[in-house]
Amino acid sequence: MGPPGAGKGTQAEFIAEHLSIPKISTGDIFRKNVSQGTPLGAEAKKYMDAGDLVPDEVTIAMVKDRISEPDAVGGYLLDGFPRNVAQAKVLDAMLEEIGHCLDMVMELVVDDEEVVRRLAGRRTCRDCGQIWHIVFDPPADPEHCDRCSGALFQRDDDKEATIRHRLEVYNEQTAPIVDYYADRSMLVGVDATGPVENVTGRAIAALRRMES
Ligand code: ADP
Ligand code: AMP
Repeated sequence: MGPPGAGKGTQAEFIAEHLSIPKISTGDIFRKNVSQGTPLGAEAKKYMDAGDLVPDEVTIAMVKDRISEPDAVGGYLLDGFPRNVAQAKVLDAMLEEIGHCLDMVMELVVDDEEVVRRLAGRRTCRDCGQIWHIVFDPPADPEHCDRCSGALFQRDDDKEATIRHRLEVYNEQTAPIVDYYADRSMLVGVDATGPVENVTGRAIAALRRMES
């Protein structure tokens, strides 16, 4: 969890690799559907471009399908889901139904100004999905991915007005689930300021504390 731009996608990549489990990002799945021109993508795009949440029924059905895939048998890391209390409640019911359990909820804590700086410079690889930043984590060639040479793009929802709206949506709809999980003693807050590798170190230390 964490506001848009907190570094969820960036950290999820490292944590999933560390745990050898898939990262399941609802935002990535929606964007893939948009680029492939599927009906799900067309439906999601309307909401994503406005910085609003895609309706719960669409999102929940998609997550249920994804976590039922074979690569999710040994566990998975959810990035960007749940995003409101209704989704959190459905997730609890869905996990119980399929015999999975939620081990931990990590919140990346960072202030709004830093979030705006991070989102304004975000670039994403069209081919491999790697996340870059033009100042904080720049690729050698500003137009191409260092990892796979794919073309980099700026997300449509990373325009300043949309960023502000997404922050409002986070504060109004998503932030309440911080309390939802804190009340269930599942929440671990991680300071998400400073260099990416320092945040990864803190996140992995938090996982180790939870395991012991
Ligand atoms: P989220 O998934 O939470 O929206 P991202 O992981 O996409 O956030 O990160 C948003 C932007 O901030 C990206 O451009 C990323 O490269 C950059 N970023 C991530 N973590 C840090 C950090 N610790 N310091 C500076 N920039 C960061
Ligand atoms: P993200 O990549 O996590 O920043 O998500 C990008 C956009 O996808 C969001 O602004 C929403 O429009 C949509 N989205 C991603 N995850 C969800 C979710 N769990 N519920 C509703 N909409 C979502």
